[in-house]
Amino acid sequence: MAKRLTVPRQPFTVNRSPSTVKMILPIYAFGQPVLKKVAAEIDKDYPGLEELIANMFETMHHAEGVGLAAPQIGLSIRLFQVDTLTPQEEEKEKEGTEPEYQGIKKTFINAEMIEESGKPESFEEGCLSIPDIRGDVNRLNTIKIRYFDENFVQHEEVFDGVNARVIQHEYDHIEGVLFTEKLKPLKKRLIKKKLEKIKKGQVKVDYKMKFVRR
Ligand SMILES: [Zn+2]
Repeated sequence: MAKRLTVPRQPFTVNRSPSTVKMILPIYAFGQPVLKKVAAEIDKDYPGLEELIANMFETMHHAEGVGLAAPQIGLSIRLFQVDTLTPQEEEKEKEGTEPEYQGIKKTFINAEMIEESGKPESFEEGCLSIPDIRGDVNRLNTIKIRYFDENFVQHEEVFDGVNARVIQHEYDHIEGVLFTEKLKPLKKRLIKKKLEKIKKGQVKVDYKMKFVRR
């Protein structure tokens, strides 16, 4: 999920220790079939899992996102990440502002949404796969989710507010659902042309993307 507010980009630095060199992966753009697939579960022997997780965080941070799902880098597997913590830490360092909620930085593997509850809330979402488009999406504000972490330890946790919102958005990705499908009919009509342009790569974006045709 793309960040709501933009913060000046941090200079990108590469970790030079050979075993931990992280890679920025191209983000698959709207129109790529992988974004519409229901993703498959993985097990702890999934090849290169540790590296994949590190590379996905790197990719997300580079694109200034707060969430990224594996289908967005072309892998139809049930893995996504949420990092609402790093932007808070950056803001605190720069502006001295105290965060309004407790951010999280987590990897969710084989997640299963158990319950969505609480108040319906409208919140403006964006997506790294759909640059330049934002729109209000209605979701319930509390979730209960079961998932495995990067060490394949199982958790069942409750999240609310922004964390729940980002998790819901990323969870939709592993179900093959995009936030643009959840916008009001009028808004859907308004963005139709823009979506077609994104499909063709006719969009300005400052991170690496993979379009259907170019
Ligand atoms: Zn997204």
